[in-house]
Amino acid sequence: MHAAMTRAWLIGAGPGDVELMTLKATRALAQADVVLVDDLVNPDVLQFAGADAQIVYVGKRGGHPSTPQADIVAQMLAHLRAGRSVARLKGGDPFVFGRGGEELQALQAAGIEVDVINGITAGIAAPAALGIAVTHRDHAQGVVFVTGHGAGSGEPDWAALAATRMTLVIYMGMRRLGEIARALLAAGMPADTPCAAIESATRPEQRHVLAPLREFAEAVARAGLGSPAIVVIGGVASLALARDAAKRDAGVAREPAASATRHELAPEIKTLSVGIGCRAHSEAVDIEAAVRAALGSNAFEQIRAIATIDTKACEAGLVEFCSRHQLPLQLFNREQIAAVPVASPSAAAHAHLGVDGVCEPCALLAAAASDCAATAQHARLIVRKTAHAGITVAIAAAHNAAVSDTTSSHPASQDQDPR
Ligand code: SAH
Repeated sequence: MHAAMTRAWLIGAGPGDVELMTLKATRALAQADVVLVDDLVNPDVLQFAGADAQIVYVGKRGGHPSTPQADIVAQMLAHLRAGRSVARLKGGDPFVFGRGGEELQALQAAGIEVDVINGITAGIAAPAALGIAVTHRDHAQGVVFVTGHGAGSGEPDWAALAATRMTLVIYMGMRRLGEIARALLAAGMPADTPCAAIESATRPEQRHVLAPLREFAEAVARAGLGSPAIVVIGGVASLALARDAAKRDAGVAREPAASATRHELAPEIKTLSVGIGCRAHSEAVDIEAAVRAALGSNAFEQIRAIATIDTKACEAGLVEFCSRHQLPLQLFNREQIAAVPVASPSAAAHAHLGVDGVCEPCALLAAAASDCAATAQHARLIVRKTAHAGITVAIAAAHNAAVSDTTSSHPASQDQDPR
């Protein structure tokens, strides 16, 4: 194998909010030929992958069983041996309940050198999203990260954990919350111990439940909280109670940021301009999938126009996609596109079209046009170049668009300087 050329990374994507990923992770992603993605990874982070990178989902999606661990390692090895650099992308930190340790061992056993890039683990990020400092010195001398799953290594010793009087941060604990709470109470943990469960932390749909231990499991069930969620048990959970007191919502609370995009943005406000770069004969279904993937948490209904280079004016798949959704197709010529700077120039676009990139400039040009402004500087990228099935997509809005304030305040959208 080409050991000198190919690289392998084990990367933590963080808890969900794209901005909580490390710089190192985004740089490694940009270099990978193949990206193997786990379930809990926010797909928005794939904007940092190269336009031509092959993206492989190996998590359980739509109820399908996840790819067995051995198959994932086999896939990685096959790509590496074929001379392709591989990034293995996991939610949170790859070494915290992510089975990253096992993958590292398997790759090392095969003689592969792997760079491990840490991520922010949900066990710290989720409590922090509610203002809970897991080792606040007024409440705890330490924190224990523990799985509530019980499978494989047997049941954690809840009585022993209760006796430590440390903050308990439980991963994968939602299904067995009732049993866990009973075991802790039986071990003598005070019934009024503050508890918190935080679902989909740092994502727009984040929700949480706060209750004392004696009522906790029932309160979580009543609120319908599910996976993925982090459970915090211990005095530090009262820090969230204090912060949340103003809301006086005994049950479930939605974060202010959580309701921002999906619920408050009127869908009839069409503020998004979608720039597309596609190969000849791209199919409408693939274009649609690429656009939907790029949208992230933005609504499809917010799209006001599709934009591309004029040489693609008659591209059948693109025309079909636009007419199906009654979206105008705006075209820009090579000179207009070349005048808009692109952050990471694409060699393919340069070779075929003589420009540094298509989707980002077109998105910006279309957004600027919607603003009746002269130049792309009057627009900003909401979502940078993302790739799906060989189709690149970028999304922009005019500077004064209604989307601006809302998207910049919510974590899953990328409001980045187009330089
Ligand atoms: N490696 C990951 C954990 C993987 S185990 C990390 O470091 O965060 C999967 C568990 O992580 C889930 O069952 C849930 O308990 C927790 N989790 C991951 N992302 C989460 C999120 N955004 N909000 C709440 N819990 C999350």
